[in-house]
Amino acid sequence: MLTKKLPPVQSFLLLFSRRVSHLTRQQYDVIVVGGGHAGTEAAAAAARVGAKTLLVTQKIQTIGALSCNPSLGGIGKGHLVREIDALDGLCGRAGDWAGIHFSVLNRRKGPAVWGPRAQLDRQRYREFIQSELLSTPGLTVLEGSVQELHVTEPSPEEPGRHRVTGICLDGSPPISASSVVLTTGTFLCGSLFVGQTTSPGGRIGDAPSSAGMSQILRERLDLRIGRLRTGTPPRIVKDSVDLHLAQLHPPDSHPTPFSFMNTQTSCKPEDQLPCYLTYTTPGVDKVVKESLHLNCHIQEDTKGPRYCPSIESRVLRFPGRSHQVWLEPEGVTSNLLYPQGLSMTMPPDMQLRLIREIPAMHRAEIHTPGYGVQYDFVCPTQLSPSLQVKSTQGLFLAGQINGTTGYEEAAAQGLWAGVNAARWALSMPLVALSRTESYIGVLIDDLVSRGVTEPYRMFTSRAEFRTSLRPDNADLRLTLKGFEVGCVSSLRYKEAVKVKDRLQEAMATLETLTLSTASCRKKLPDIGVSENKNSSLSGMELLQYKDMSFEMLASVFPESLSRYMEFSQRLKIEAVYKPHCDLNKKEIERIQKEENMALPQDIDYFSLPVSMSKEVREILDRVRPSTLGSATRLEGVTPAAVVALFNYVQVTG
Ligand code: FAD
Repeated sequence: MLTKKLPPVQSFLLLFSRRVSHLTRQQYDVIVVGGGHAGTEAAAAAARVGAKTLLVTQKIQTIGALSCNPSLGGIGKGHLVREIDALDGLCGRAGDWAGIHFSVLNRRKGPAVWGPRAQLDRQRYREFIQSELLSTPGLTVLEGSVQELHVTEPSPEEPGRHRVTGICLDGSPPISASSVVLTTGTFLCGSLFVGQTTSPGGRIGDAPSSAGMSQILRERLDLRIGRLRTGTPPRIVKDSVDLHLAQLHPPDSHPTPFSFMNTQTSCKPEDQLPCYLTYTTPGVDKVVKESLHLNCHIQEDTKGPRYCPSIESRVLRFPGRSHQVWLEPEGVTSNLLYPQGLSMTMPPDMQLRLIREIPAMHRAEIHTPGYGVQYDFVCPTQLSPSLQVKSTQGLFLAGQINGTTGYEEAAAQGLWAGVNAARWALSMPLVALSRTESYIGVLIDDLVSRGVTEPYRMFTSRAEFRTSLRPDNADLRLTLKGFEVGCVSSLRYKEAVKVKDRLQEAMATLETLTLSTASCRKKLPDIGVSENKNSSLSGMELLQYKDMSFEMLASVFPESLSRYMEFSQRLKIEAVYKPHCDLNKKEIERIQKEENMALPQDIDYFSLPVSMSKEVREILDRVRPSTLGSATRLEGVTPAAVVALFNYVQVTG
């Protein structure tokens, strides 16, 4: 059913070992630690920028593994996937390759907040990522567990700043690099929990990252480290579920690819697999309550993901409520279902009792029990917007280690950390993405300016300029910039320039085409143009009518518009949002003018001769925002304090 085929995985492994055997003690520009979603994007991006890159990960076969749900995208997360793709990252194309059920969420709202999402075939996703990494020039992949990070002590010239020099694997000589990107995910001092059993681990079947790594970050680099938790549901044997007792949810009839480089997905529309929706019953609440004293994970007071809570948390927070459970396929050939909404950590026998309280699963069998994981993360306010650790030159962090949750959030940070790690190693200036131009900018700014108190995930509501930051225009917003910073291929760049030029040309044409209101009422009677004898409407204005499509307009002006039919949906969206975006643009320009104003890193906030409370001074001193924009968004920093800071820096700077 999935058309194209990659070479079998076996041959990748052979290739990998051949590369490993060629590994000698070399100097790399960039070393990436961890082959999860952050690490794979980081390694690929660093290599694209031109850095000689080494990816070291515990197990080659788990590169690109989806630790939890086999899906990509969704509301807010889909925006990130489109932006990663616009910057030539991997996950969008991998999603198009491995997707088996595509749907655009939130369609009842405007296209700015639509959420492209796909259910994935786990195996195919991994294969794609592994295949891509192996064919990336300048990238070597090594299987091994990094035990130590090598750093120098701060020098008298740069007091308080260490410098990274490389890594050390278990029992082998050090490998040197100018930059290191740590992407250890849920593995840093990871502990797994099922019922009353706790064991060391980063994910089921995988050992944690060495305690030494966490110790170096904490003791040697003096970084503030916190602890978070997450969990995953049991995997259910599909044949043991009575799916006719759940609601069928078909995919979109025309799958929308994630990647700007793809016009279609690998899976044919008619071959997509359905998902199913069912609900918890009062019996589920009863099992949760009876199992609480046997559930260590729930008793720990470490913070878990608020927006992807365990069934235990859902029942305790909203007792008596019926909760949604999505039954999602794990792959084309897999006989497993993923019950989204039933993440749990009670003992396995209680897990079986619980799922059987749901009618569609009354005779279900569990293939693998659910479990929880707790792990260390680095408080991300200690990073700069390039994702470099402020106190350690050349050390970059990305992904779950920064307190986020989710593949997309990890991949987005990974890509940007990879770009900057490469640029640092190649002596190029570090670069940042603003929150006015991308969701990736919003994500990174939120992390480094505000920090996290619980696992952070992306939502469209986090972006102030939602109508401009749409999934449909991520290429226009980011591909050209990506080319400038070095992470976008010339092939993609040329394609983006072509699209940009054609859209601009089409929009200019739409502005010049006019139709009198009388003609509108005659030729386009259904769109509801009101009578106004003296006025006429431009093509752009006509497209802003809800019931007006580009196709309808092209039938009125075939000579001018039929050549732009391939952009019909994009032009409709551009037209609808144009008034809003024009306003946004003015607002953005004003904020950008002030937002990008650099704040000197050596300001002594406590002796600043301005009117500012002690609390605000403490916050500014702790976070040390790099720009005025970041200072503005710090919790507890008042607008008056920002004005004072602005005036001070303008006068003294
Ligand atoms: P990971 O994908 O965890 O990858 C880390 C990689 O680093 C691994 O390949 C590991 O082998 C490697 N590594 C670690 N230490 C070393 C070392 N010292 N040397 C070499 N390699 C090393 N996300 C959600 O959005 N919703 C959920 O409900 C959810 N539930 C989850 C439940 C569980 C049990 C787990 C494990 C994860 C869950 N996630 C969930 C999180 C999701 O898997 C992560 O957000 C995402 O995978 C993070 O990507 P990452 O690249 O930061 O880390």
